[in-house]
Amino acid sequence: MSTATINEKEVTSSSNVIEQMSLFNHEQIVFCNDNNVGLKAIIGIHNTVLGPALGGTRMWNYANEQEALTDVLRLSRGMTYKSAVAGINLGGGKAVIIGDPKKIKTEALLRSFGKFIDSLGGKYITAEDVSMNSRDMEIIHMETDYVTGLPESMGGSGDPSPVTAMGVWMGMKASAKKVYGNDSLKGKKVIVQGLGNVGKHLIEYLAKEGVELFVFDIDEEKLKAISKQYKAKVLSKDDLYSVDADIYAPCALGATVNTQTLEQLKVKIICGSANNQLENEEIHGRMVEEKGILYAPDFVVNAGGIINVYYELEGYNRERALAHAERIYDTTTKIFEIAEREKIPTYLAANRLAEERINAIAKINARL
Ligand code: NAD
Repeated sequence: MSTATINEKEVTSSSNVIEQMSLFNHEQIVFCNDNNVGLKAIIGIHNTVLGPALGGTRMWNYANEQEALTDVLRLSRGMTYKSAVAGINLGGGKAVIIGDPKKIKTEALLRSFGKFIDSLGGKYITAEDVSMNSRDMEIIHMETDYVTGLPESMGGSGDPSPVTAMGVWMGMKASAKKVYGNDSLKGKKVIVQGLGNVGKHLIEYLAKEGVELFVFDIDEEKLKAISKQYKAKVLSKDDLYSVDADIYAPCALGATVNTQTLEQLKVKIICGSANNQLENEEIHGRMVEEKGILYAPDFVVNAGGIINVYYELEGYNRERALAHAERIYDTTTKIFEIAEREKIPTYLAANRLAEERINAIAKINARL
């Protein structure tokens, strides 16, 4: 396993697919085509040392095939790290269906895709991602059992957001312990950006703990309702980053931790659910350190979603999923210890923890 980040230029400079796979040791890439239904998809299996490769299917109107391949290589590798750090027995995979969902998504296309998943015999298990919902998972399920994210009425795990929020809350408490010597968030000023499914559950946990809440969302109705319910102070997009606060919780979009926002942020901790928070891992991962901000790596603290679907494979039980998400406190603490001991940024420490687990389990597998 290599800790380097995928460099898009490096990947696209090669037109050779196996060469692109070998850069980060992807195990298998499956190209799926069905002219009858207009299906063009790629399934990426990065690593199955810990278990079957699980990751969502994204439907997107990619400009070209290379863009879709780059995305599937990058995202499937990310899933390997996320599951490894979360301590679950899953490998990393991801799938992309190429095309505009409004134009191409049909029952026949989804079922055809389901047949391709089934042909892999469980090596890849799918879930929801961008432009896919639980109804789509139900349709794929008509052709294969290797699907998660089914509705609760079908024995699935339903909405993962409460479990994700629990994990973020745990990561935040572990961060507070590291910075303030005490994991209580009482009286801390926390900025929550994005009051969607995860944000609203996170706010519930934080409010119960006596946090002073600062909130922002582009959806004014949500903003009004949440600020009223929790007596939270409403921020505008202009004072969102510069307000005097202790913790910033990005729960909307990625890349909000960048050079411009870091110039404004006064917080001591960044910990939220959004994926890919650092605009550039290497540059901004170091910049947060230089500014004296503790960054709780996003893929560590937002692993509640993958933990939730993992328990769906075992016969779903929300209590078990929540109990596992609580352990994100210990994992986050361990990552801060590695970062301090090895004098590396926290995002790299998280990658290292993932690689250590995969390499250790690979040794056991080799013995069998
Ligand atoms: P969501 O769509 O329910 O909520 C996102 C919220 O962000 C919406 O209320 C939206 O209005 C708001 N928003 C969009 N652009 C914004 C902006 N520029 N500024 C402020 N607010 C903005 O999504 P979610 O399920 O709550 O997920 C939030 C984030 O966490 C996403 O990045 C998602 O990928 C990530 N995540 C979610 C889960 C999960 O279990 N739902 C798991 C892992 C990661």
